[in-house]
Parts: sequence; C-alpha cells; structure tokens
Amino acid sequence: MRIYLDNASTTAMLPEVITMMTQIMSQDFGNPSSIHQHGRKAKSLIEIARKTVAKTINASLSEVFFTSSATEANNMVLKNAVTDLGIKRIIASPTEHHCVLHSLEAIAQNEFCEIVFLKVDAFGNVDYTQLEDLLINDSVSTLVSIMHGNNEIGTVNDIKKIGSLCHQYRALFHCDAVQTIGKYAVDVQEAFISFLSGSAHKFHGPKGVGFVYINNDHMISPFIHGGAQERNMRAGTENVAGIAGLAKALEWAVQNMDKNKTRILELRNLFKRELSQHFEDIKFNGNQEDGFLAHVLSVSFAPGPKADMLVMNLDIEGISASSGSACSAGIEEDSHVLQAIHHPTERKTIRFSFSPFNNEEEIYYTIHKLKSMT
Ligand code: PLP
Repeated sequence: MRIYLDNASTTAMLPEVITMMTQIMSQDFGNPSSIHQHGRKAKSLIEIARKTVAKTINASLSEVFFTSSATEANNMVLKNAVTDLGIKRIIASPTEHHCVLHSLEAIAQNEFCEIVFLKVDAFGNVDYTQLEDLLINDSVSTLVSIMHGNNEIGTVNDIKKIGSLCHQYRALFHCDAVQTIGKYAVDVQEAFISFLSGSAHKFHGPKGVGFVYINNDHMISPFIHGGAQERNMRAGTENVAGIAGLAKALEWAVQNMDKNKTRILELRNLFKRELSQHFEDIKFNGNQEDGFLAHVLSVSFAPGPKADMLVMNLDIEGISASSGSACSAGIEEDSHVLQAIHHPTERKTIRFSFSPFNNEEEIYYTIHKLKSMT
C-alpha cells in the first residue's frame, strides 16, 4: 500500500483532467497564435479556461493571465510592481513561500525599495495592528504581500481585513492564494486584491501551469519578453493542454468545494484525534480552532533519535509526508515558517496534508505505523 499525505506539496491529477489533456495534446495541438483552424481551436480552449478562472475569482477576462507556475506569477507581480508602479515599500509576512521571500531579497538588492516584515504570533497570524500602523504612517507607495493560506502550518490570513486596510490607506495588495484557490471562495473585488496567484497542481490539475490576476487599474509590464501571447503580457507559446487542464480541475474543485472540505476535515479531525490519543507529547502547529487550512496538519513530535527519522521511516513504510525542516550546509534546521513562530527546534515536525481521495483506512494505517516508529 502506498499512501499519499503530501497534498499541500502537489496533488494527484483528476482522471477527467488527464483525459481532456490527452485529447488536446493528440488532436488540438495547434499553435494558438496561428490563424488557421488548428490554431483557432487551441486559442478558444485558452479563452474558455480564462473565463473559468475569471469567474472563480470574480475578475474580468482582461485581468487573468496564464503563467508557468505561481512562482512565475509571484516573481512577475513583485518585481514589476516595484519597477512599473513606483512601489517603494513592500510589507510582507516572514511566513511567505520562498518564491515570494526570495523575490523580495532580489528586489532589495537591485532596487530602492524597503522590505518590512510583519510580526507573527505563535500560530503564524500576522499582526494586523502593526500592519495598520505601518499603513497609517505611510508616505511612500506601498505593496502588501500576504498569502492567503500558509502551505507549511495551514494558518489562514484574513484577506478581507488585509484588503480593506490596503484599500483604506491606498496600498496595493498582492495575495499568494496557491493553497486556497479551489478550496476557499476567493473574491478579488470583495477583498480589494490588486494581484493574486494560483497554481493548477495544488487542486488536482497539471504541474507547470498557473495564473496571475492583475487588477486593470494596476497593470504592470510583462516579465517574460517575446511574442504577443497573453495579450502581450506573457510571451511564449502557451501550454494549451495545461491551461485547459487547470480550468477543468478548477471547475471540479469549485463545484465540489463544500463536499471536499467536509471530507478533508473529517479525515484531518480523525487523524488529529488518533494522534492525540496515542502520542503523549505532541503539538500541532498553526491555528487549530479557526482560520486554518482544512487540508494541512503540521505536527511536532517529542524530541529523540527516533523522531529524527520519522519522515524517512514513514516513506520506507509506503507513506509520503513532508518534513518541516530544511537541510542547510549539512545541518537540519527548522523551516523559515517554523522559525518565525518560534517553534522549539529540538522537536521534529511533519506536515501531513490531505485530499478528498484519502480515506479512513489510510489514516489508521499511518497511525499504526507511526506508533511502531516512536
Ligand atoms: N506559494 C505557495 C503558498 C505554495 O505552496 C507554492 C507551492 O508549493 C507556491 C507558491 C509555488 O507554486 P508553483 O509550484 O506553481 O511554483
């Protein structure tokens, strides 16, 4: 038996997405920039997909652009907002994904732009009062870059509150919504979002395709230069099958959002209950009562030589989960997110993340194996 509990990292593709993409790759392989029928068919598939994304996030068609990934979308927004929109200060959370944090590092090296990190509490919630204080006293053009749901510990930020603050104090708001698109209702207008990113492989679509929402009032220039694809915003022949697959998966995710969430919560609750029952010294990271991603459960096990080997031993037993540490210069360190919440370094963290395709048997089996390992 092979069990997959790493759905925050990537998800299995839906069979209907694979079928659709296979058909496009074999039959609708035209270049969307060509004006003949093959090209027009490919182009129409992209435009249908754009409609699905725009409708899902309540954007207009002219505000949605397909990219190779959310990493590209986030790089594009952050770097080009600074150069094109005169952003002089970016306020972010220290728990952002590396594609945001490393983009900010690059910006700080190359541009005159101040980067300010908000304080986060022990659960990873950003300090909204500090954000407001910074925005009230703003004398420069500011962009706030805060993710919706955290991929490591599952804490969900209140994007409506952040968006309202940004709107009130005339700052722009970039939201990395990679972990929530297709799982939570996201409305870019209601939350006053200026830029947003999403990625297909997190909602049972293909890898290597994502999208960026750019509010019409804050258009930036292209990040990748070349042909006129994506209305001159993102050059390069489009990944037609990937884009259509993204939309197909998103449609499924939106249609089944409540059902999927209920199912995932059942599995998460069962897993949490079983862990609490069978392991004495265990801690759950991130928000647990409210404001958490249903599909993410970050667990810290008591220190000890066996705990160090848990992720590897789970893998040997056929269970894929993710460790909360990064190996830097041969030394294992807590990830930047765990460091930001002052997680005790001696404890070993594993992120278990679920999909509606997991089941109770897998949960009990994983608990059984964990018990034998600790
Ligand atoms: N942002 C978050 C919160 C993520 O979890 C990820 C992927 O793990 C990304 C950005 C990057 O997405 P992509 O894999 O499409 O580059």
